Amino acid sequence: MKANCWIAPNNVAVEEVPDPQILNPRDAIVRITSSAICGSDLHLLQGYIPAMKKGDVLGHEFMGEIVELGKDVRDGLHIGDRVVIPFPIACGDCSSCQRGLYSICENSNPNAAIAELAMGHSPAGVFGYSHLMGGYAGGQAQYARVPFATSAP
Ligand SMILES: [Zn+2]
Ligand SMILES: [Zn+2]
Repeated sequence: MKANCWIAPNNVAVEEVPDPQILNPRDAIVRITSSAICGSDLHLLQGYIPAMKKGDVLGHEFMGEIVELGKDVRDGLHIGDRVVIPFPIACGDCSSCQRGLYSICENSNPNAAIAELAMGHSPAGVFGYSHLMGGYAGGQAQYARVPFATSAP
């Protein structure tokens, strides 16, 4: 698929990258129909957010159509449903998610220790927003993998 990739500070490019795949049972794959270019993408573009890598797919606000679902996706999502994807990736089950604090989900950022060093506390994983926020491929792309598909806030 094609995706908008961060190359280096002040350098992004639409490149051919591997299609996303279901990695976990609660993932969905979404064919993206609309994607925002956000003001906070400028922090990535200009090199102010650390832990970006060449080839990272940008985009943290997007919507589209479900084309594939993991076997444990609950709550009535179906292939063909139109969905909106929020920027924080949230498990729905941890203490923070249970209190509605999805942006500090305790399970979705595999690089939480690095984020804690940089910011004092780790946020949730975030699509397309550096390896501090988990290194998830974003939605300025033809397709995206959406973890914890049915628990998204
Ligand atoms: Zn944004
Ligand atoms: Zn959580």
